Amino acid sequence: MISLFKPYQEKQKISLTAVFTGFVILSVLLTLTISIISSTQTQKKSLINNTLSLNLSTAVQMSKTMDSLFQFMQSSLKNAAVSFGEPEESPQKEELESRLDLIRNSSGYFNSMALVDETGMVRAISPKTIGTAGSHITSHAANTALQSRKAFISEVYMTSKTKRIIVFLSEPIFDQEGNYKGFISGTIYLQDKNILNQIFGSQFEKNGTSYFYIVDSKGQVLYHPNSDRIGKDISSANIIVQQLEQGKSGKQQYINLDGVDSLAGYTQISSTSWGIVVVSPTQKIYDQLYKHFVLLLLRIAIPLVVLTLIVVWTARQIANPFVSLANLVQNFEQGSVEPPKLRAHWNREADLLTRTVVSALSNFRRQNEQLTHEAMTDALTGMMNRRTFEDTIQRWIDQLIPFGVLVMDIDRFKTINDTYGHQMGDLVLKQVAGVIQAGVTAQDISSRYGGEEFVVLLRHADSSEAYLKAEQIRKSVEQAFLQVDYTVTISIGIALYPQHSSAAAELFHLADTALYRAKEDGRNRTVMIRAQDNS
Ligand code: GH3
Ligand code: MG
Ligand code: MG
Repeated sequence: MISLFKPYQEKQKISLTAVFTGFVILSVLLTLTISIISSTQTQKKSLINNTLSLNLSTAVQMSKTMDSLFQFMQSSLKNAAVSFGEPEESPQKEELESRLDLIRNSSGYFNSMALVDETGMVRAISPKTIGTAGSHITSHAANTALQSRKAFISEVYMTSKTKRIIVFLSEPIFDQEGNYKGFISGTIYLQDKNILNQIFGSQFEKNGTSYFYIVDSKGQVLYHPNSDRIGKDISSANIIVQQLEQGKSGKQQYINLDGVDSLAGYTQISSTSWGIVVVSPTQKIYDQLYKHFVLLLLRIAIPLVVLTLIVVWTARQIANPFVSLANLVQNFEQGSVEPPKLRAHWNREADLLTRTVVSALSNFRRQNEQLTHEAMTDALTGMMNRRTFEDTIQRWIDQLIPFGVLVMDIDRFKTINDTYGHQMGDLVLKQVAGVIQAGVTAQDISSRYGGEEFVVLLRHADSSEAYLKAEQIRKSVEQAFLQVDYTVTISIGIALYPQHSSAAAELFHLADTALYRAKEDGRNRTVMIRAQDNS
C-alpha cells in the first residue's frame, strides 16, 4: 500500500498535554506572583505605617506615664522637704537617716536620698552605706540645687567617686519662717535596677524585638535595654535624637546605631524635656510578611494541585483523538483494512479532525481498491491481466503447487477483424473470454495474456486432466459460435508443472511452442508439449 506519511521520528517532541499544562501552570504562577508581589507591597507599606503609628502612640503613652511619675517623685520630695523644714527637737543623724530610709523604701522612686543643709553639708544619707554623711557635697548637680534653691532635675551625669551614671532630683527645704535650710535630693542609678526599668522594662519583654530608650535634652542616654549605652551622648549619630533635641515628636524609619533598619516613634517628656523613643526593627515586618506569604502559599497549594490535575486531564482528553488518529492512520498504512471507528468527540476541533481523517481514509481505501482492481484485471474482458497471471504462476511454483498451463489463441482473428470490424472483434474477444471463464473452476486461473491470446492455469491438473479440460474449452468455444455465420475457434498449447519445467518463463514458452504446433497442424486443436520438445 502507498505510504501516506513519512515515518514518524521520535525526536524530542513536546506533547500537547505538556504544552497545555505548562501554559496553564505558567499563567497561574505568573498571576499568583504578580498578585502576591503587589499584595505584599501594599501589606508591607501598611504594616510599616501601623508599626510607626503604634510606636508613636506607645511613646506618647509612656511620656505621659513618665510625666506623672516625675510629678509623683517631685511631690514625694516636696512632702519630705516640708516635713524636714519643721523645727527639730534633737536632729540626730541616725534619726534623720532612718526617716530618709523610710521615705525612700516606701516610695521606691529613688536609689538613694540625701538631706543637705544650707552650707552644703550632707546631714543624712540613705542608704547609710554610701557613707558621705558629714561631708560636703561635691557634685555639680548638688551645687546647682543648693544655689538655685528651687526644685531641680539634673541632666544625666557620672558621679566622680562611684562612677555611677545617675539623674538627680531635689526640692529646697524652708523652715516655717521661710529661711532656706538646704535641700532634700533623690537619685536614680540609671544602670542599676531602678524605677524606670521597673515600670517600663516589663512592657517590652513580651514581644522581644521592640524596645525603647530615653535620652535627656542633651542627647545622653538615661535608659536603654543595652546598658552599655546608658550615659553616652548619642545625639551626633542618631537622627531621631537630633529630632528630639529640636523639640519635635513623630515617627520615622531610620538606621539605628547598630546599623539595623528600624521603625521609631518618638516624643518629648514635657516635665523633664527628655525624649522617649520606641523602636521596632523593620525585620519584624518582613518576618510577618514571610509568615503571611507561607500561609498564602499553603492556602493556594491545594487549589493549584486540583487545577493542575484538571488541566492535565482535560489536556489528555483533547490530545487523545490526535493520538488515536495517528494510530489509526499508522494501522491503515500497515495494511489494516478495518473500517475506522468513528466516535464523536466533545471538542469541536478534535471532532472535525476525526471526521475529516476518517472520511479521507475511507475515500483513500476505496480508490486504492479500485486502482488495485484495475491494475490486476483486463479492462475489455474483466479477466486477470498478464501481470497478475505472471505473479500467480510464480507464486504457485514457489508454493510447489502442480498445475497445467494452457496457452490459447483465437484462430485467424485478423480475418474477423478485417471482415466485421474491430468492434465486432472486441465482442468476439469478450465472448471467448466468457466461455473460457465458464470452463474453469474457482481454483483455476484464467487470464487475457494480450491481443487474442488467453492463458489458463489448471490447479493440481495432471496431463490427462489438462488435456481433457483444454479440449472441453476448445469445443465450448467452437459450439458457442455455431449459430453465427463466421467461424471462431481456438488453438491450445499445454505444458505441465513440474513435469516439463520448473521455471515460469520456460513453462510458458513450452506451452506457446505447443500452441504454435497446433496452429501448424491445422488449428482448432489442442497440443500437449512433447518430452523431446523440452530438450
Ligand atoms: P492465427 O490463427 O495464426 O493466430 O491468425 P490470427 O489472424 O489470429 O493472428 P495474427 O497474430 O496475425 O493476428 C492477430 C490479430 O488480433 C491482429 C490484431 O489486429 C488483432 N487484435 C489484437 N488485439 C485486439 C483487440 O483487442 N481487439 C481487436 N478487435 N483485435 C485485436
Ligand atoms: Mg495471436
Ligand atoms: Mg490468432
